[in-house]
Amino acid sequence: MIPPTDKLPEKINRLNELALNLWWSWTPEARELFRRLDYPLWRDTEHNPVQMLRLLSPEDLQKAAEDAAFIRLYNKVMLKYDQEMANGHTWFHITYPEHKNKIIAYFSFEFGLHNSLPIYSGGLGILSGDHAKETSDLGLPFVGIGFMYPQGYFRQRLPSHGWQEAIYKQLDMSQAPIRLVRDDNGNEKLVDVNLGGRRVFARIWHVQVGRTNLYLMDTDVDENDPWDRELSARLYSGDSEMRIRQEIMLGIGGVRVLRTLGIDAYVYHMNEGHSAFLLLELLREKVTAGTPFEEAVRQVQQQSVFTTHTPVPAGHDAFAFHMIDQYFRGLWEELGISREQFLNLGGHQEEWGIAFNMTVLALRLSGLSNGVSKLHGEVSRNMWQEVWPDRPVDEIPITSITNGVHVPSWISSEMSQLFSKYLGPDWREHHDEAAIWERLADIPDEELWHLHLNMKRKMISYFQEHVRRNWVHGSHDPTQVLTGGTLLEPTALTIGFARRFATYKRATLIFRDLERLKKLLLDVHRPVQIVFAGKAHPADDPGKHLIQYVYNMAKNNQLGGRIAFIEDYNMHMARYLVQGVDIWLNTPRRPREASGTSGMKAALNGVPNLSIVDGWWAEGYNGANGWSIGGGQAFDNPDVQDEHDANSIYQLLEDEIVPLFYNRDRDGIPRGWIEIVRESIRSNAAQFSMRRMIKEYTTEMYLKAIDNQSL
Ligand SMILES: *Cc1c(COP(=O)(O)O)cnc(C)c1O
Repeated sequence: MIPPTDKLPEKINRLNELALNLWWSWTPEARELFRRLDYPLWRDTEHNPVQMLRLLSPEDLQKAAEDAAFIRLYNKVMLKYDQEMANGHTWFHITYPEHKNKIIAYFSFEFGLHNSLPIYSGGLGILSGDHAKETSDLGLPFVGIGFMYPQGYFRQRLPSHGWQEAIYKQLDMSQAPIRLVRDDNGNEKLVDVNLGGRRVFARIWHVQVGRTNLYLMDTDVDENDPWDRELSARLYSGDSEMRIRQEIMLGIGGVRVLRTLGIDAYVYHMNEGHSAFLLLELLREKVTAGTPFEEAVRQVQQQSVFTTHTPVPAGHDAFAFHMIDQYFRGLWEELGISREQFLNLGGHQEEWGIAFNMTVLALRLSGLSNGVSKLHGEVSRNMWQEVWPDRPVDEIPITSITNGVHVPSWISSEMSQLFSKYLGPDWREHHDEAAIWERLADIPDEELWHLHLNMKRKMISYFQEHVRRNWVHGSHDPTQVLTGGTLLEPTALTIGFARRFATYKRATLIFRDLERLKKLLLDVHRPVQIVFAGKAHPADDPGKHLIQYVYNMAKNNQLGGRIAFIEDYNMHMARYLVQGVDIWLNTPRRPREASGTSGMKAALNGVPNLSIVDGWWAEGYNGANGWSIGGGQAFDNPDVQDEHDANSIYQLLEDEIVPLFYNRDRDGIPRGWIEIVRESIRSNAAQFSMRRMIKEYTTEMYLKAIDNQSL
């Protein structure tokens, strides 16, 4: 799409360029600029400046261009933008100047960059999006490869029966921060792959993420048959046939995108096994260029790194051999190996039989592999020991790098300003250094507390506006108005639980003893309320049952409106939640939460975690920065485990959390509570930042892969 620059007045004619670079989304001054441009529209579009610029009339824009204050801010933002985009003094360039042109190509099925680009479903996508943003901040030579799903992930609707409905909407590409990649003649650039005997084409969308480039494939082009045009229509829908076709497109098509664009990658990073077919394409390229197979394998291993995310065997993609025959027949001859040798690259015993497993393929052909928390690394070494049958489990070559979150994206602008005041104006530059967070001690309790109350009010009024709009538009019935947060009270202790409704996350655990919970919720002097949000995968009926259960609780008059379910969880809503609730609740069945990241976002914003000691919280919890549910005790019987963990939640709430929260001094400040808030930020912000994570990936994965190749 060519943005309509023609209607922009001269004085602000680079607003389009700014709107098309997601840099604006994590830069406070740039956010402020679009907010000031038209505040009602900023809210209506859920902070989508590309759409705003489409909707504004030439007169509106002319008015902005004549507003002196707006122009001052515009000039300031553009200056900062130009300086940062041209800046050669990034961490990576300064620290590793000799490697500054060695491109790392990062492949992911989903990217959670901004709400206006709904091509993510949950934690994996948010991680990829945050990863891309931080590589821009740190100046890594980095390019992302994925899909531009025209219908994205589904939007959730919860009718009054509580059974989730999935709505797919065609994205208006002209209202998203993307541009088509064209050749010199203005034609769409295409790549193609062979899918079971047919050539399937994809066009390429470009997303500018600060200094980092993302290229996303989309098969909705005239060259394809109707069925193939649908290939990239939606994220995570369809059967295993659709899935293998998507994964071939991602892996093999993705390498061809790099070739078409003339991008010579030095390191290939697979974010989860979905993209592991790229390894086969790299092998094929080398063998057809004359490299013997064994040597090609060695070279591919040196170039490739792999991150696994799933601690559950059934969560890893595996394809029946007949499908591999169908799609890869011919490739083994090209590689000069037998069918059996080929199948062995991914061969793995699944619950349902032997199959071609994407994680096994990635582990075998990557020189470096990692899990996403210490505990998950350990679980993964046990799980995949069979790939290295002659090694003891502690020598299985899967390390761990704990996830993090992109601090500028997830911190509230209010908190960011407070940090600028007390930690120093350059705190953002140093946010992964533990030392600067010691200065939190200088923030007066009053300021922290009032800021938090402000964030909580903002969150609740966001829910209410959301509901009001749907009510006005006639898309909500009274039950939905009731359950969508309208009865929430800004002064009540507010617990947040928002994430994908996968069953292992045990969203309904807190309802296990309803009478005991009721006492907490309905206490006249010290009420507790809980806000839920999250989608279940469209094929996950048990997950949808959990949503329905929670929804029925929200409807239940006996619980007094103290439970809310906010429909259609997304990144936009996530910001309000992690910044506005008092406690972040997480109840995974250990060790199923490989890392989890929403709790990190909460901790950063001064919202302490109440969580099972699993994933990142096994490293983050220090006894003073939140609470550990169940004390890490493990039981074989899941029902006994649930009983134990639920009891622990009630006990913590009754004995510690509620009394501490409501214990106010003469000035109305909960001093003891503020200590936990402060400690939550102090101990977690640097450690679980995406900046710390990217520096670790740089030294532990990327530079090692680069060094291996120069041996
Ligand atoms: C951060 C985030 C997640 C990840 O949540 P976890 O369950 O903590 O891993 C999922 N969805 C959205 C919208 C998020 O912002």
